[in-house]
Amino acid sequence: MRGLLGLGVQQPTVFYNWNAMIASVGDMMFRYWNPHIERMPLTDLQKLQENRLRSVVRFVSAHSAFYRQRFAEAGVAPEDITKLSDVAKLPFTTKLDLRNTYPTGMFCLPGDWIVRYHVSSGTTGKPTVVGYTQGDIDMWTDSLARALTSIGLGRGDVIQVGYGYGLFTGGLGLHYGAEKIGATVLPMGTGNTERQIELMQDLGSTAIACTPSYFLYINEVAQQMGISIRDDTKLKVGVFGAEPWSEETRKRIEEATGIKAYDIFGTSEMSGPLFTECHLQNGIHVWADYFLIEVLDPKTGEQVGEGERGELVVTTLDKWAFPLIRYRIGDLTILNTEVCECGRTHPRIMRILGRTDDMLIIRGINVFPSQVESVLLRMPEIGEQYQIIVDRKGPLDVMTVKVEVTEKAFSDKISDLMSLSKRVAKELQKVLNVSAEVELVEQGTIPRSMGKAQRVIDKRKV
Ligand code: ADP
Ligand code: ZN
Repeated sequence: MRGLLGLGVQQPTVFYNWNAMIASVGDMMFRYWNPHIERMPLTDLQKLQENRLRSVVRFVSAHSAFYRQRFAEAGVAPEDITKLSDVAKLPFTTKLDLRNTYPTGMFCLPGDWIVRYHVSSGTTGKPTVVGYTQGDIDMWTDSLARALTSIGLGRGDVIQVGYGYGLFTGGLGLHYGAEKIGATVLPMGTGNTERQIELMQDLGSTAIACTPSYFLYINEVAQQMGISIRDDTKLKVGVFGAEPWSEETRKRIEEATGIKAYDIFGTSEMSGPLFTECHLQNGIHVWADYFLIEVLDPKTGEQVGEGERGELVVTTLDKWAFPLIRYRIGDLTILNTEVCECGRTHPRIMRILGRTDDMLIIRGINVFPSQVESVLLRMPEIGEQYQIIVDRKGPLDVMTVKVEVTEKAFSDKISDLMSLSKRVAKELQKVLNVSAEVELVEQGTIPRSMGKAQRVIDKRKV
């Protein structure tokens, strides 16, 4: 391709996706950002991971007092890590370690290597700081270029970025990824919802990236403005993440707006948003040349069986300012190592149930907000907005699920509403194994969020 362009040895600055290539799998044609890597035979990919694992372990031992001490405590030396399965010999790293070394105690390169900081919101404790070299930013951008290409986005698309810009990684992450593939970026950030919709129309956004809860709100405001996203805009793709959401929400969004909704995952510690589903919408491809993932039993720290749910643990393989060894992200998921029908050999993680620290324990029973969401949205009378309020009455935990009902259901007779509320309670009890009080409210009652939705109010913690 370089020869064709007559540009000599240097890769051209990418104004559009020179790299996105078409390849065939069977009789299907697919687009890849980097087919060589994305379709690399599994044995080669594992070899690459093995080499990189050895490098990163040596690197952190040489550059980080924190990891040197951890390795010494675990009685493991860099030389002990020769094959991929040796990763299990390495000690875990946790969010607490990041907090204890605040702000930059776990960085492995001096400040003059760092080209950017991001800082987590710190809603669940002290904030954590992440730093990047230029190479780390390039790796992050490349991950998203592959991911967005796998969805089918590229040159000619207008991608509206409705994640927050600034210290949060969502906005800038998507921004760089979208520019890299040659799409046009509309850097909206969050909020200003009416303007989001006007510009979506005026500039012809074909894709939007934001939290799923914010997109639901955008759709609501569009309706109030008399605009149909399906008929009056060019939007065809949503890239939704940064918070747990369910298959039921995906269905609702797709049916209501006619777009295809894709799941995107990442955490600030790993860089930011990094991985998405491919166009087949069947699990999120994790770029294995950059990240080694394990799915472990949260209690024992042992690998779970194939198809079983466990905690996601990550080791970075090509990230140098702030590498992570066996970092316990805490998100619960299922690992799928089968080669995807799209031809990509990189493993997939299935829809994230939530983080272990988002889990509610109600009278001894574990409940994830995303499970509540799945139950609610299966009922057509129920709207998409809900809140879970947990309190204690005497010695007992009481969970109240406050949920909006559709306008039509709300205008029904009181007796119909009462029977609906009973049905919701019964379904919740059946699926979650714990009883909940149900409060049905009118549309527009529950506060909307522009970023990560706050679904749970746990009054027991106050
Ligand atoms: P913070 O730690 O301040 O919440 P992050 O942006 O790093 O900031 O949050 C990452 C977390 O967000 C993940 O660990 C996960 O719990 C959640 N998350 C991100 N994307 C998804 C997704 N697609 N599905 C479910 N949860 C997600
Ligand atoms: Zn795929």
